[in-house]
Amino acid sequence: MRDPVTIFGPDFPYPYDDWLSHPAGLGSLPESSHGATVAVVGAGLAGMVAAYELLELGLRPVVYEPAGIGGRLRSHEFEGADGVVAELGGMRFPVSGSSFFHYVRRLGLTSAPFPNPLTEAAGSTVIDVAGQTFQGRTLSELPAEFTEVARAWDEALEEIGFASLQEAIRARDVDTLKGRWNELVPLWDGRTFYDFIATSEAFAKLPFRYRETFGLVGFGTGGWDSDFPNSMLEILRVVLTNCDTDQQLIVGGAEQLPRGLWTLPVSERSPWPAGTSLASLHGGVPRPGVAAIRRGDDGTFTVRDRWGTTRSHDAVLATCQSWLLTTQIECDESLFSQDLWMALDRTRYMQSSKTFVMVDRPFWKDIDPATGRPLMGMTLTDRLTRGTYLFDNGPDRPAVICLTYSWMSDALKMLPYDVDQRVRLSLDALGKIYPGVDIASHIVGDPVTVSWEDDPNFLGAFKGALPGHYRYNYRMYTHFVQDGRPPAERGIFLAGDDVSFTPAWAEGAVQTALNAVWGIMTHFGGVSHPANPGPGDVFEKIAPVNLGE
Ligand SMILES: Cc1cc2nc3c(=O)[nH]c(=O)nc-3n(C[C@H](O)[C@H](O)[C@H](O)COP(=O)(O)OP(=O)(O)OC[C@H]3O[C@@H](n4cnc5c(N)ncnc54)[C@H](O)[C@@H]3O)c2cc1C
Repeated sequence: MRDPVTIFGPDFPYPYDDWLSHPAGLGSLPESSHGATVAVVGAGLAGMVAAYELLELGLRPVVYEPAGIGGRLRSHEFEGADGVVAELGGMRFPVSGSSFFHYVRRLGLTSAPFPNPLTEAAGSTVIDVAGQTFQGRTLSELPAEFTEVARAWDEALEEIGFASLQEAIRARDVDTLKGRWNELVPLWDGRTFYDFIATSEAFAKLPFRYRETFGLVGFGTGGWDSDFPNSMLEILRVVLTNCDTDQQLIVGGAEQLPRGLWTLPVSERSPWPAGTSLASLHGGVPRPGVAAIRRGDDGTFTVRDRWGTTRSHDAVLATCQSWLLTTQIECDESLFSQDLWMALDRTRYMQSSKTFVMVDRPFWKDIDPATGRPLMGMTLTDRLTRGTYLFDNGPDRPAVICLTYSWMSDALKMLPYDVDQRVRLSLDALGKIYPGVDIASHIVGDPVTVSWEDDPNFLGAFKGALPGHYRYNYRMYTHFVQDGRPPAERGIFLAGDDVSFTPAWAEGAVQTALNAVWGIMTHFGGVSHPANPGPGDVFEKIAPVNLGE
């Protein structure tokens, strides 16, 4: 059997999954460092992974969070319907995210195939573009033009050597992968996804309509035209590492991951007494949101929370959205170099909106006697809703419909409206695709909506790097290796979606959290086990390519 594709690089091909599963553990700290405090800014996935692993090592993480534990893995539980959730943030997790799934297994969570377009889990897929509606279970059941679009995309990727790059990822052949990828970085950092499509031989020979259909219907999970202005490197990483194929949902909600880490007791390896957990050290609740981070005279950090309490910490890990470090949190400017500040501030965020309703049952599976097909299917359209996803919790339980999942301009169209109006607009759009289906009559409970850009603790959904942003990403990502930095810039670390090279995927939050764990461990004089070198130990050898300034 072929080796699986995992999110292994391509920028920094380090085997995080092997590091995590090695019996020797991530490393050890001198006893004198045990109990040293690390302020962890943010209780999202990156904050919780890092806090848990730092606790394992014997440090004392102090977690600050202004909203709920979970961050962008926010699972809204519908009132009165035990365990029926709407995933307001991350909802589909590629099996190639092997470090993410390490924690899924560790917490004993269950996953199931996500009902993406044209998958068995979706059952039926409906594509409604330019006023025409098609329904099918597989690509071959749709008009031939869709197959041609899919083929053009595969051919376009092959023009830049996709198959050999992905083979190197499967084989974990670092030399080949880095050799090829490092050549692509300067070529594609400055060019957009749309540029790639429009100038590829495969699409150039086809009418414009094919590009348009590709943008609306996309590859794997749905329309990707909202990513057209992004740097092509972002998209290449997604497809090379199979982020967009074979995705799972977390049964009961992805928020269980960060929440589970909060209450997970340390393993026998930890210097902390058996039964210690992050929750037990915090009396059950995180500290309030951070209002200021300053360097104290003795080199430690003072962190002031939003209610004015100041605590001293030996190190800091910031996992919140990076713009918050200049908009919400007063930071000493000397904590980071000006180059890094530039990167943190210039990083670009995408907008995203979702609106969900709970319905009495998965009525969409009822067969329409006129067509012999299910009443509704997972729906992709150029209408306002863009993507509609159907979540079946079993025949006798309430089901959930994500009426609309949209990004960028499509998300902004929803921004001014309250939840009821968003539901109305969505039902109106879907009514044009399914004139005979009365979705509203099935709605039970209160709908729920989110616009991440409207939330002061997030200011956006996730990073989407623009052309020319590789250097910003490089500066943020490599910051965890602090040897060469001036003392004034050491001891504060970064992790999370915005620091990652695979933004918008939870695996990136996990991997960057693990980088920070290595950085913090070594900051306190700790070392990895010689048989299990950490990301910083092999940094020189596999570092992301430096394009220079
Ligand atoms: C709409 C959407 C869809 C997504 N879809 C997917 C998907 O399908 N698959 C996938 O793998 N990933 C997906 N993602 C990405 C995934 O959710 C993220 O990568 C991951 O949750 C980010 O975790 P994080 O810890 O880096 O950041 P966050 O979860 O944002 O955590 C940062 C935390 O910092 C907190 N904070 C803010 N201000 C302060 C302060 N002043 N003091 C202290 N804390 C503060 C915030 O409240 C937040 O809890 C999606 C994200 C969104 C928004």
